[in-house]
Amino acid sequence: MEKNKISVTSENIFPIIKKFLYSDQEVFLRELVSNATDAILKLKTLVNLGKLSDSDIDVVDNLKIRILIDKKNKSIHVIDNGIGMTKEEVEKYINQIAFSGAEEFIKKYKTDSSSNIIGHFGLGFYSSFMIADKVEIFTQSYKKDYSSIFWSCDGTPNFVMEQIEKRNRGTEIVLFVNDESKEYLEYDQILKLLKKYCKFMPVKITLSCEDNEGDNNKEIFINNTFPAWKKNPIELRDIDYSNFYHELYPNQLENPLFWVHLNIDHPFNLTGILFFPKMDQRIDIQKDKIHLYQNQVYITDNLEGVVPDFLSLLRGVIDSPDIPLNVSRSSLQNNPSVKNISKYITRKVADKLSYMFKNDRKDFENKWENIKIIVEYGMISVQNFFDKCIDFYTFPNVDRIFFTLEEFKEKVKDCQTNKDGKIVFLYSSNKEEQYGYIKKALDRSYEVLILDSPLSIHFIQKLELLYKDICFVRIDSDHIDKLISNKVENKSSLSEEQKKNIENYVKKNLVENMNFSSIKLEDLSKNDDPFLIVIPEFLRRMKEMNYLKKDLIEKDEGKYYELIVNTNHILMKKILEEKFEEKRKNLIQDIINLTLLSKNLLRGKYLDIFVSKKLKDLC
Ligand code: ADP
Repeated sequence: MEKNKISVTSENIFPIIKKFLYSDQEVFLRELVSNATDAILKLKTLVNLGKLSDSDIDVVDNLKIRILIDKKNKSIHVIDNGIGMTKEEVEKYINQIAFSGAEEFIKKYKTDSSSNIIGHFGLGFYSSFMIADKVEIFTQSYKKDYSSIFWSCDGTPNFVMEQIEKRNRGTEIVLFVNDESKEYLEYDQILKLLKKYCKFMPVKITLSCEDNEGDNNKEIFINNTFPAWKKNPIELRDIDYSNFYHELYPNQLENPLFWVHLNIDHPFNLTGILFFPKMDQRIDIQKDKIHLYQNQVYITDNLEGVVPDFLSLLRGVIDSPDIPLNVSRSSLQNNPSVKNISKYITRKVADKLSYMFKNDRKDFENKWENIKIIVEYGMISVQNFFDKCIDFYTFPNVDRIFFTLEEFKEKVKDCQTNKDGKIVFLYSSNKEEQYGYIKKALDRSYEVLILDSPLSIHFIQKLELLYKDICFVRIDSDHIDKLISNKVENKSSLSEEQKKNIENYVKKNLVENMNFSSIKLEDLSKNDDPFLIVIPEFLRRMKEMNYLKKDLIEKDEGKYYELIVNTNHILMKKILEEKFEEKRKNLIQDIINLTLLSKNLLRGKYLDIFVSKKLKDLC
């Protein structure tokens, strides 16, 4: 028996491993199963290269990893029938901490299948000391002439290593779980971890548990070794994608809308499937996020810095060994290969959307409700994505007819311009609430778009910045004839003095608690309403942007609204001629109340008729 010291520069490496190396203790299992997977994939590579004897080739079909919980002895066993280690290899790869054998191996046998080898987690094996007081290794190399080796270490830099009676090929790691980590002796806990980290690992994994009485419960299979994202897209039907989606997110009941299959070898290696989920009010972006894998090993679902933020609304898997794991999030963003990966994914998503638009526009439009938020978010934040999407970003009008930007410009360029000659994109954010205003525009044969996503304001700001010939105005931001310049100029039927009086009367007699940012007198048509309540485009945008930023709940709504008084309406004369203060007050308040009602006609044809009738009665 050899008694030795592990060759590390610091005696204190174990406390460091225990406390700081992994904030997440549970990754120990991922590390050990990854090592076992590597050992098996290495063996397969050797078989492929013809480096093994025929008798070993027979066993290739039986390659697997077994996880066994031994409650009586408080131990967890990770057993593989992979490549195993010779005494020299244990010395080199285990005793010299952080000396990664995986890297050596890849250098030596650089072939396609070896690029599947996991590893590169650095101190992988030693992470077992986070939960174990003592760790043992039993191993037999695939090289038959070498003896089997036993290694044991109790969490100090001292270890024991000796030759033992010949065992079957492969390695068994035994963790004697410490008292603080007892939870890892629970079957359910280990099952949960295996389902989290190892669900799609490329080598068969089983779990079984021996309880205190020595009874062995059934060995169950954990993983799908050939998940959909590793398959050739041509082999997959829609149902296969949906099934995979549910395999990935067992709690999701809905099917995904559509997906993007990612597959690239050069200049980096990446596979994956991104799903567009149905977006409803209840979507919880903290749950069921995109999973990052490396060679089928689950790493994290925090992809901050790896993909642009807007893609975090998608679901699915990204599997790439080229994303560095041991660097901070900020340096991740500046990493050249991560930058390229991010660009590639963004492009693939845009290409898919573009293809859908061109291939079946009706279907694309039907899905638009669910995808517009993602598209807008992407277009606002990533210029490359904007450039690709602007050709198929679609604006629905109030009758759900969809226009691209260019189509809409073409449609309205002759009849919907403002005084500066810009093409006016009239829009409503809520068809019901703004019905009264929409109706006035439709009566004049104008086109009104529906822009109702929470990002609409930011999106149109960006469009106006890039396209100097267009402007967006919400339907209730002014009188329709002011929003779109029509050549008709109305003369006022009131003198300047009468106008002053009207303004004073209205100011004095506003309904209690009614508060306007300003009262404006306009010479509209005598057929227009007497009063109009509007919210100027600029003020409203400011308000909405603040709302998004600071999550402010705006209490004093009124301070943004403007009251427009139509000097040419017949009721103005009536207000001026009224002799009794009280009656004048009632008249003004009646008109205001009716105006408020008409502002929000709630799809109400009847209400509309009611308001017109009441106004007539007042005249
Ligand atoms: P890494 O996996 O990053 O290389 P580890 O500390 O986890 O680092 O492992 C060090 C080396 O020990 C591995 O690269 C491998 O050569 C060897 N090793 C670990 N576990 C096994 C195993 N189950 N079978 C064969 N070799 C192993």
